[in-house]
Amino acid sequence: MVEDDASDWRDALWKANAPLFEGIPPFATGIGTLPAGWCELVESLCARLTAAATAASGRVHVSRLYEDRAVIEVVCKAIPPNAGLEAVVAEVAARAAARSACTCAACGRPGARYRIAFRVFAACPLHMPRGSVEVFPNWPTIRVVRSIVAGRSRIVACEAYDRGLDRFVASSPEALGIRHFP
Ligand SMILES: [Zn+2]
Repeated sequence: MVEDDASDWRDALWKANAPLFEGIPPFATGIGTLPAGWCELVESLCARLTAAATAASGRVHVSRLYEDRAVIEVVCKAIPPNAGLEAVVAEVAARAAARSACTCAACGRPGARYRIAFRVFAACPLHMPRGSVEVFPNWPTIRVVRSIVAGRSRIVACEAYDRGLDRFVASSPEALGIRHFP
């Protein structure tokens, strides 16, 4: 396997953000699984992780950055351990995961997740695979807070990722199609 290919945007990204990866070769991070349509959100993710580390006078070490079932996954830690930095990093990673789940892997336009059997794709209506069905609710774009109410686990608060605002906003479970999962 080629360890370095400057013509590939992912290798360029890995080079530009070398302090995050601390010399782990691109293929070992899983970065090669990231589709071109996610370029903007991956660059934003890396910029935000770097900014968070700088603001906390610490470091963020990314050991894995890869696509899994049409969602970007980030495995990283703060060095030295820092609860405040880790909280910021968790929020940054959650926003990236939510954005990937509604961004077409092919063209980067707004989309959703579609599946054929157990294969899942992030796609816009133009690039959705023929014969696929939309995955709904799109869980990576949703956050719920549960509490025990009258002896049963209930959703007491709900947030949905707003792609235009690039953040989570309060929403109702019904609006997100999760009323059948109380
Ligand atoms: Zn598309």
